[in-house]
Amino acid sequence: MSTRRQFLVASSSLLLAAPMARGATGASPRFAADPFSLGVASGFPTPDSMVLWTRLAPQPLAPGGGMDPVVVPVQWELAADERFAKVGRSGITWAEPALGHSVHVEPEGLEAGRDYWYRFRVGNAVSPVGRTWTATPTGQSRNSLQIAVACCQHWETGFYTAYQQMLRDAPDLILHVGDYIYENNRGRNRVRDHGTAECYTLEDYRARYALYRSDAGLRAAHASCPWLLVPDDHEIDNDYANDISEDDDLPSLFLARRALAYQAYYENQPLPRRAVPMGPDIRLYSSRALGDLASIHLLDERQYRSPHACPAPGRRGGNRVYVDDCPQLLDPSRTMLGAQQEAWIDARLASDKARWNLVVQGVVTAYVQEEPGSKLRYWTDSWNGYAPARQRLMDSIANRAPPNPLIIGGDIHAFIASDIRRRPGDNSTPLLTSELVATSVSSEGPGKAVIDATLGGRPEVHYADDAKRGYLRLQLDAKQVRADMVAMDSVREPTSKATVAASFVLEAGRRGLQSA
Ligand code: FE
Ligand code: CA
Repeated sequence: MSTRRQFLVASSSLLLAAPMARGATGASPRFAADPFSLGVASGFPTPDSMVLWTRLAPQPLAPGGGMDPVVVPVQWELAADERFAKVGRSGITWAEPALGHSVHVEPEGLEAGRDYWYRFRVGNAVSPVGRTWTATPTGQSRNSLQIAVACCQHWETGFYTAYQQMLRDAPDLILHVGDYIYENNRGRNRVRDHGTAECYTLEDYRARYALYRSDAGLRAAHASCPWLLVPDDHEIDNDYANDISEDDDLPSLFLARRALAYQAYYENQPLPRRAVPMGPDIRLYSSRALGDLASIHLLDERQYRSPHACPAPGRRGGNRVYVDDCPQLLDPSRTMLGAQQEAWIDARLASDKARWNLVVQGVVTAYVQEEPGSKLRYWTDSWNGYAPARQRLMDSIANRAPPNPLIIGGDIHAFIASDIRRRPGDNSTPLLTSELVATSVSSEGPGKAVIDATLGGRPEVHYADDAKRGYLRLQLDAKQVRADMVAMDSVREPTSKATVAASFVLEAGRRGLQSA
């Protein structure tokens, strides 16, 4: 057992013992309002477990969620049926003020490949019921898997009609690829306001999650199925890179802010307990095998990346730069994932033999030339700004040759369906993989001119549209992945109809997306 692991074990048993020793528990707490206002969630299923989440917040927007600063015992129940006719498992866990009275339960030894229902009790309050499942074990295949991919849900620029539509689809799994909250206020055409300034403190970030979770559709989506999530920049700060903030704060100061933002992220999402932040560090990259049908690899492209190349004067973050003016762009020592994560994904791609290997991350991976004509111009926040690091990821995919790799991206507030070549941007090299980018749930698109200038006319780009808000619906089976780009008619009204803007199919054993 490593020293670090011993420390973790020791500190977690201390946490469990502490309330007994201190006697400072709200043993039979009474609440003036529903302590389960933020709903319930589950995530990160394995064959014998998953994470069950809630966070007590009778006054969700108040400091500490309106909870007294005491440790509170919370009961959890897991059943094999929706009515809890027979409670299969139950237990007590502690909601601690140090973690915003959040609860992350990981039951052990569950039956593989089946549905479960769960709920929580505290005092005389009972939570809503959530549905979740355990993964099919490796060596067995499930027939199909429906995944909804969401990202970029700025509260101010639209209603979450996408989640209402997702609930109609009843997906097996929801993948969120970042910008779950926005720390900043923005948008030309707002339908509502955050009502508070940019997030800096722990209470700022906590209240921002609570505001977003006041959306009934979002809460229902969390209760409806397990999620896998990885943040992008706005959960912390626009365009941050490792310890560099957008406003070029002193790195030590930014790391202090990053620690608070990661803590609020952990407190408010169904993340495994191994992801408890250690100061400014949080382990977010991870993999889930869902039987022999699919493996999903989540990459963290923010925490370990090199600073952006050639930032605009007076600020940091992304910039549109000419490659000729910025040799740093092609410096192979720069990294997007960090050496450890690069080795990790390389090993995953070597060992994972699932039919579909989804490499999931928060930005655009495809080669993008930002300006028509011959002068190369790159946007430095996406993988284009880290081209040698991208090439190493493509080399991993090519050399490790996992069956049927598919990249999932977000960030740009546009749907994109494109193929990626062995050397991205070099049309003389063969097709290696494809990328499907989910548009935003509600954040404003970059504008048609930008999309046309950057992606128009490239033969490997099948579709690019920034005018649509919505999500990606993926249907996986042994033969193919079908991808529907589900577009909401409106995010300016609280409810809306949806249409499928475009559909693509990726056939098993064949490279390249095809129109469906
Ligand atoms: Fe975004
Ligand atoms: Ca982003």
